[in-house]
Amino acid sequence: MTVTMKGSEVAAAMKEQLAQEVGQLRESGVAPTLAIVRVGARPDDLAYERGAMKRMESVGIGCQVFEFPETIGQKEFEQGFAAVNQNPGIHGILLFRPLPRHLDEEAVKRMIDPLKDIDSMGAPNIAKVFSGDETGYAPCTAEAVMHVLRHYGIDVQGKRVTVIGRSMVVGKPLTMLLIKQNATVTVCHTRTKDLAATCRNAEILIAAAGKAKMVTADFVSEGAVVIDVGINVDEEGKLCGDVDFDAAAPKASHITPVPGGVGAVTSSVLAGHVVRAARYLHGIPS
Ligand code: NAD
Repeated sequence: MTVTMKGSEVAAAMKEQLAQEVGQLRESGVAPTLAIVRVGARPDDLAYERGAMKRMESVGIGCQVFEFPETIGQKEFEQGFAAVNQNPGIHGILLFRPLPRHLDEEAVKRMIDPLKDIDSMGAPNIAKVFSGDETGYAPCTAEAVMHVLRHYGIDVQGKRVTVIGRSMVVGKPLTMLLIKQNATVTVCHTRTKDLAATCRNAEILIAAAGKAKMVTADFVSEGAVVIDVGINVDEEGKLCGDVDFDAAAPKASHITPVPGGVGAVTSSVLAGHVVRAARYLHGIPS
């Protein structure tokens, strides 16, 4: 019987713990607060913003949105961003990216206070993830995958794990988190030869390529755990993952759906980072 790993179940379990931690912070006089920084109003950003705000609210984390006009200049944006960065009432900053092309995103990444960089966009946090230092914040989606695995009792130690995708947002940091837990990781990308055979060798297969339904039954070995990070739109305009769920599920022991899988855990990870940031910034031990 294949187990469908539901993001909502993982998020529900995390919520209890988070609400408790927020309660403790509030008792110490600290109201953990997230700043969402948005330039313009792209529909996908607005959708993510609504979800993130709802999740923060549900565990007692405050949320402030700082919206800047699409036409803002670099200097003006940097001034606005610096004000958020230095605001002592803000503990974590989520900047929607990519920024409009006329803005220098790298410059903003260099500006962010590493303690407030809860979405891991600056070099200090990335470096911590790569050096196995858990005091940094890993990119939320990569960490969400680890939460899903842990929640469903899947120990990665010594397992053959294949990750499709090598981006700095998902594939690479996730590989580091898996290695930290003693998995044996193979990373695949667009130049990988015989991708299906490499994936079939995996006990745990994680797809983060951004290609609708590219993982067919042929990629999945009998009893494998399949995690789908992809968010795509299929030919009928419906949301789908990188995995052809109907084809892969009968062979998998565990599988995440899209929607309702990894994506549903990401904002809970973000909330956890805001809590940690509030603790770090106020010197409150966990
Ligand atoms: P990206 O485009 O930056 O990277 C994709 C990676 O996949 C690249 O390293 C590329 O080499 C590899 N790849 C692409 N096509 C491939 C193919 N045919 N064969 C083998 N490798 C291939 O994308 P990303 O930002 O890492 O995101 C990946 C997917 O995850 C996207 O669908 C994105 O929407 C989704 N995503 C989901 C969440 C979430 O919360 N669930 C968050 C971020 C990204």
